[in-house]
Amino acid sequence: MTGHSQDQLQRFSFDHTSIRGELAHLNSTFQDVIRRHAYPRTIAIALGELMAATALLSASLKFPGRLTLQLRLTGNVTLLQAETDEKGRMRAIARYEEGADTDTLSLDDGQMVLTMEPENGQRYQGITAIEQGNVAKALEDYFEQSEQLASRFWLHCDGRVAAGLMLQKMPASQGVDPDADPDAWDRLGHLASTVKEDELLHLDNEDLLHRLYHEEAVRVYPSSALQFWCSCSKDRIGNALHQLGYDELQDILREQGSIAINCEFCQQAYSFDAAQIDELFPERTLQ
Ligand SMILES: [Zn+2]
Repeated sequence: MTGHSQDQLQRFSFDHTSIRGELAHLNSTFQDVIRRHAYPRTIAIALGELMAATALLSASLKFPGRLTLQLRLTGNVTLLQAETDEKGRMRAIARYEEGADTDTLSLDDGQMVLTMEPENGQRYQGITAIEQGNVAKALEDYFEQSEQLASRFWLHCDGRVAAGLMLQKMPASQGVDPDADPDAWDRLGHLASTVKEDELLHLDNEDLLHRLYHEEAVRVYPSSALQFWCSCSKDRIGNALHQLGYDELQDILREQGSIAINCEFCQQAYSFDAAQIDELFPERTLQ
């Protein structure tokens, strides 16, 4: 076992079938998220699994833009959210009541919300119920209902690393005889479901694919990098402050002298003095 240390997304396919797969591994990308927050272990693990799912889905971002996967929940934890852009740059966040009981995290009665935001073009959003708290199942339901694609997902996180495995049956492509291997989907899915958490988290791609599929004709494609990256900037924070309104901001300035605010994703600190707040409201000086 050579171990898996790289943060990457690995595509593979099976010859003579229309079935493809993705493997995602998150090490430093996940650790960069959790070391910025003191997340309780249950939340960190659920967030890691959500990040692994989001990394798997990033393969379907064929355009510059952003894909966001949210779990909207009804208990003490209200939101888990992971994002990626088309370059595999990811960030994630959890929202919950400070001091709330987070020893157990229930995803029951929650909704999974998948949002695609192309830089140029129409925003798309799909909402799926999370049955029995199972995010992998919610993803399978989403692809079945919204994309008419049969899919299987396996997601794991041990609090330190996160990983995911996806299989997807694409529409029959040219050159593939759909009757050549009619059992392929069931067989390949069954083999994947023998994967153990420790194997998915810690084996490198080659060893894992060999372990699962040594009797299958697996084709492996160049991998792509995954990494932590936050898209926050002073301009974006300024836009958010602008929405609070001039009077509200003046109240804070009178009390505190300046306005200090941290990005909720990466904890980067931003500060605005009175002159910089005035600059956020150019419409006022034009009056
Ligand atoms: Zn940030």
